Amino acid sequence: MERRTFLRSVAAAAAAVSTPRVGTLAGMLTPPGYRAAVHVGQVPPDVLAVTGDGREVVIRGRDIAELARSLRGRVLLAGSEGYETARLVLNPSFDRHPALIAQVTGAADVRRAVDFARGNHGLLLAVKCGGHSFSGASTCDRGMMIDLSPFRAVQVDPTARRAWVTGGSLLGAVDHEAMDHGLATPLGTVSHTGVGGLVTGGGFGRLARRFGLSIDNLESVQVVTADGRLLRASAGENEDLFWGVRGGGGNFGVVTAFEFRLHPLERRVIAGRIRFPRSRARESLELYAEYAPTAPDEIQLDWGIALPPRGEEAVVGFDICFSGRASDLERALGPIRRLGTPMEDTLEEKDYVEVQRAGDITDPRAQAGYLKNGFVTRITPGLVTPIVEALEGHPERGTGVNFVQSGGAIGRVAPEATAFPQRDAEFMMLGGTGWAHGGDADPQEHIGYMRSFWGEHLEPHTHGFYTNDMPLEAVDADVARNYRDNLTRLVAVKNRYDPQNLFRLNANVQPSG
Ligand code: FAD
Repeated sequence: MERRTFLRSVAAAAAAVSTPRVGTLAGMLTPPGYRAAVHVGQVPPDVLAVTGDGREVVIRGRDIAELARSLRGRVLLAGSEGYETARLVLNPSFDRHPALIAQVTGAADVRRAVDFARGNHGLLLAVKCGGHSFSGASTCDRGMMIDLSPFRAVQVDPTARRAWVTGGSLLGAVDHEAMDHGLATPLGTVSHTGVGGLVTGGGFGRLARRFGLSIDNLESVQVVTADGRLLRASAGENEDLFWGVRGGGGNFGVVTAFEFRLHPLERRVIAGRIRFPRSRARESLELYAEYAPTAPDEIQLDWGIALPPRGEEAVVGFDICFSGRASDLERALGPIRRLGTPMEDTLEEKDYVEVQRAGDITDPRAQAGYLKNGFVTRITPGLVTPIVEALEGHPERGTGVNFVQSGGAIGRVAPEATAFPQRDAEFMMLGGTGWAHGGDADPQEHIGYMRSFWGEHLEPHTHGFYTNDMPLEAVDADVARNYRDNLTRLVAVKNRYDPQNLFRLNANVQPSG
């Protein structure tokens, strides 16, 4: 099961990890029936909000009006048209209500919104791009959300092989514009994922073994830091910020522009899935464990086991994208063909951009789910056995374990070259469970199952986790440990660019001051 398919079935994290709702006092301050976005000249009522460190503060209506006047974009309050849509993220388990939302159209708006959050006692601040954060990091209760969705543009220079992408853009636009010139950069596998979140956290995808993670293909970024400055960062300018943004997530500010290197790529790639019944699980996973680390960089080979609900048949198999020469495909598939005739084989030549959007989720908020992840250096017999023997199905939930192949060009970058340290991993392992959102299913039961299965059988074989799929349970110490030897430098960068920890809704690097 490919990661995107897998994520579709577990498309939301734990509903049970509930968060406080908007306080009643906030309701009193914002009268019902207050409808429109805050218009220039209009003074809305005062709004109750919280700061990053949890203190309640009142934001004065005239300050909100002043913010609205200063933006090209819009300011939304509870009850404003568009507020109910803007506050949502992909994961339906998160039903949070920011005190106000600034919908920004450019870097100037972002600067004003950041100034506003900092100037109002350091409001709890969420930054939303594609809204895919599984842990709901891009929304909040009673804080401020900067919604980057009106800030979307991609420009390609085919001669220089560069793409300039604004901070609110989605992956699909980059793939589409770049491939128009026979070019591509490594990005994730679902086209409506945000560039802002995916790229600052790392960026795995179908081309990453060939060209590196998304962060490895950044030439420069522009960032609005906590003090409201707009800084350019590259290998020669604000190098520490450039280093931190590549793997340190949104810890240092709002990235308003990304400059990517592009690579020539044939529009036609060979992609699809090869499926077997569950009885072939051990054999196929053992083959995968042995072969994947030696496979050529041109192949992205993911293995998964899926146990669907309602007694449907469990399947195992490979999701494959091969971007090399067609004549080299069979060699690249290696020993997989030794498994004999599969129950399904959809491998064929396809348009790369279509492959990249084939897994898009039409109704992502219909599914709730729970996800764990961890990096794996070797798939040992001790890891194979519980996956093929002990993983249990359930009539109401889908359950699965999935390996995303790492290695190749990802592993040829030094762990200290960017803030992303897990360069030694050959795989990223995901374990998840999904159920119909709002149905009769007991989320606690499903979450409890995966949590204990993962903790007992899988976690001992992992070395850290992917911050972009950060487990809900991760506490500060886990996050700090996960940055490995890069933590000290990350703290220094944080101290320099965000000493008050304004940007804390992420895999947070705590400033030491
Ligand atoms: P958001 O929820 O908008 O933001 C997530 C975090 O990023 C927040 O902390 C936010 O503050 C920060 N952020 C967002 N924009 C900016 C910005 N411009 N500047 C600074 N900080 C910012 N990951 C992969 O590597 N490869 C995949 O193929 C992949 N597939 C996925 C498929 C699905 C269906 C889902 C749900 C997730 C997938 N992921 C994948 C994980 C994905 O990388 C993370 O969920 C990522 O955070 C999504 O980015 P976003 O902008 O959509 O998220």
